[in-house]
Amino acid sequence: MKNKFLSLIVPVYYEQEVLEMSFARMDAAMKDIGYPYEIIYVNDGSRDGTMDKLRQIARDNPHVKVLSFSRNFGHQLAVTAGMDIAKGDALIIIDVDLQDPPEVIAEMVKKWEDGGEIVYGKRVKREGETIFKKFTAFCYYRLLSAMSAYPIPLDTGDFRLIGRKVADVFLSMRERSRFLRGMSAWMGFETVPVEYVRNERAAGKTKYTLKKMLKLAFDGITGFSSRPLTLAGWLGMFVIALSMFGLLALIILALTVGVRPWLWALDALLLLHGITLVFLGIQGAYMGRMYDELKGRPLYIVKEKINI
Ligand code: UDP
Ligand code: MG
Repeated sequence: MKNKFLSLIVPVYYEQEVLEMSFARMDAAMKDIGYPYEIIYVNDGSRDGTMDKLRQIARDNPHVKVLSFSRNFGHQLAVTAGMDIAKGDALIIIDVDLQDPPEVIAEMVKKWEDGGEIVYGKRVKREGETIFKKFTAFCYYRLLSAMSAYPIPLDTGDFRLIGRKVADVFLSMRERSRFLRGMSAWMGFETVPVEYVRNERAAGKTKYTLKKMLKLAFDGITGFSSRPLTLAGWLGMFVIALSMFGLLALIILALTVGVRPWLWALDALLLLHGITLVFLGIQGAYMGRMYDELKGRPLYIVKEKINI
């Protein structure tokens, strides 16, 4: 059992304040688990002292690998780059700022050994974050889960362990707008939660600006659902139905008490707008299909083969 290899993937962006402390704790936690391991840092275009610190850590620790981007490509791509070069039988993705406690990894590894292919951290509590962040996160996870055709577990970030089989599927999905949580949900597989308390950032400030958060939120919804595209169609049908009722009412009124002529025009307008919306929705449906083709995801994912 002890011949498994683990890869820890850590994206870093302007994190010179927290790096050393973070490495010490993660390294200790990984050592405790008992398997051989590597720690892969991906520098997502930081221009402070982050790279110097990483060079130093890598010099003293041959199991530390460092990838450095030419510019900021974003957290999701940094994680992807780390996954591309990871050699492990299991890959663990963790933020550098110690908000996700490294000690939880041992528990994740246990669940993986028990057969979990994706073991994700579920936040039962978030400490040291603003009410605004907690509230937007709470609403967003629920909206996302309502929009997505595949169940995305609530209140989970990217802190997770994925087995080799799952990692290989990830590597075959090369879409540009990446939302790793949603991609995991799309893949299926045996998914197991590990509950933990999300701590305060150990040092430094959040690197997820409102703009980055909005982009991620938007990628999450647009990447996993074509519902927004077909929304117009449903609205259009509703408007057409409304205009039909209106027409009926107008005819009855015209035959009894009489109606003002502009009401006919209003009803015709409603009908025309409804028709336009329906056609927008139909176009949306085609666009959704094109978008699916463009992503070029595998058609299906085989989990097990017998006698083949
Ligand atoms: N990060 C990154 N690129 C970015 C933004 C963030 O690699 O453009 C890294 C960051 O260094 C950290 C992780 O992504 O390891 C999560 O970022 P942060 O802790 O700032 O986000 P928050 O926890 O506040 O949502
Ligand atoms: Mg953080």
